[in-house]
Amino acid sequence: MVRVRFAPSPTGPLHIGGVRTALYNYLFARQQGGKMILRIEDTDQTRFVPGAEQYIIEALDWLGIKFDEGVHIGGPCGPYRQSDRKSLYRQYADQLLRDGWAYYAFDKPEALDAKRKEYEAQKKTFQYDCTTRMGMENSLSLGMEEAQRRIDAGEPYVVRFKFPENIDITVHDLIRGDVTMNSRLLDDKVLFKSDGMPTYHLANIVDDHLMEITHVIRGEEWLPSAPLHVMLYKAFGWQAPQFAHLPLLLKPEGNGKLSKRDGDRLGFPVFPLEWHDPKSGEVSSGYREQGYLPQAVVNMLALMGWNPGTEQELMSMDELIKLFNIEHVSKNGARFNLEKAKWFNHEYFQMLSDEQVASYLEKQLGERGISSDHNYVVKVAGLMKERITFPCELWDTCSYFFQAPTEYNEKDVAKRWTPDMHIHMAKVIEILETVPFEHDAIHKALLDDYIAANGLNTGKVMNSLRIAVVGRTVGPDMITLMLMIGKDETISRVQRAIEKLKTEN
Ligand code: GLU
Repeated sequence: MVRVRFAPSPTGPLHIGGVRTALYNYLFARQQGGKMILRIEDTDQTRFVPGAEQYIIEALDWLGIKFDEGVHIGGPCGPYRQSDRKSLYRQYADQLLRDGWAYYAFDKPEALDAKRKEYEAQKKTFQYDCTTRMGMENSLSLGMEEAQRRIDAGEPYVVRFKFPENIDITVHDLIRGDVTMNSRLLDDKVLFKSDGMPTYHLANIVDDHLMEITHVIRGEEWLPSAPLHVMLYKAFGWQAPQFAHLPLLLKPEGNGKLSKRDGDRLGFPVFPLEWHDPKSGEVSSGYREQGYLPQAVVNMLALMGWNPGTEQELMSMDELIKLFNIEHVSKNGARFNLEKAKWFNHEYFQMLSDEQVASYLEKQLGERGISSDHNYVVKVAGLMKERITFPCELWDTCSYFFQAPTEYNEKDVAKRWTPDMHIHMAKVIEILETVPFEHDAIHKALLDDYIAANGLNTGKVMNSLRIAVVGRTVGPDMITLMLMIGKDETISRVQRAIEKLKTEN
């Protein structure tokens, strides 16, 4: 039975790179008929940010990434928040100490700092490892008796992993194949801290084991930690899960990891939902608040680092579940592409029903105190949605269906509204008043019998009519538009334009 987990640390809003990690875990779990677990890794109390856990849950829920077990829904392997599992980790640190896989270290922060500086002065980097550990203050260098004396005297200590000297450690990665590293290059990471909390490394391995995780799918930034994790499984005598380290999400230019600053610079969010930083009060924009549809965000993220091997780009969550293949995830970082993100949103916006689009529009009308017949709004939505990428554009694009223009675009007027135009517009009114108010009749009377028969410039007359009705030269087919807003409203708008533009010209 496949069991995967998404294991974020609640240190702030969830970056879209993290969302993609959650998504790939979800697609894999669903495809394999497995379980998806949400575990909160909050062992580093100094980085804890209030509200972050709730944010993560809400963001993934918005995107339709569902869990089978987790901090918010419980399950057979709970609790799912590491701070609630605190009492459980000590025994595992003790087991490693007993079996010679770990040791106590008493080095004060100042002593470690001094060491680092000493190495820096020689242009080297200090690492607490098999080559340096005997020169430090720990139970290996001091002896167990002295170490016990210090512990009994209440001296603070940490527990460090003891890497065997000079062995090759191989991580088998489903995306990258075998990744091998020599233990001489790895530092004796702290597993248990003086505050009585495990570090990420210990808690992560213990929990993955106890929660029976079969596949660890996570960001590339964790690849350097993977040899330690493989060794920890060995030290505990547990079977390690399979690993897959996902490629980074890169800046649009391709150089380096996508950051919030890139988003601010280029005008796109790097977080799923808007985030209000509880400390600084700073607000970061979110995909949801910017009007992205969750299906579009999911589809876009799925294709950042993976593709189905065909040209197909639009895929629903169900299709993604069918087509996803972890072995086809790319080793290389995936660039963020803002135009592509907008394209996805536009495509998914077109898939909304006219009713759904109308409900966005009705909200915007409500905010402006405009009430309108529901069926009419649905009709406008159907006619105009192909021009829309984000719901917030609806009002600007459709306002003239609900109210007469309050001003006329100067450039358009200068280009189209020639001094004789009031004569033609008066004629338009006359035509509209006399012919049956339906498409073919208007078309014949206006375009054939008046404009064409008098050798007038169709573009000039029809665009002037458009200026009168819309305020500028944009919009759908002119006759369709007149039929939508109605005869009286059309005539009154043309009348008004004649008066306004005559006096202005
Ligand atoms: N807590 C880690 C993070 O925030 C999880 C890494 C992992 O999945 O092992 O990314």
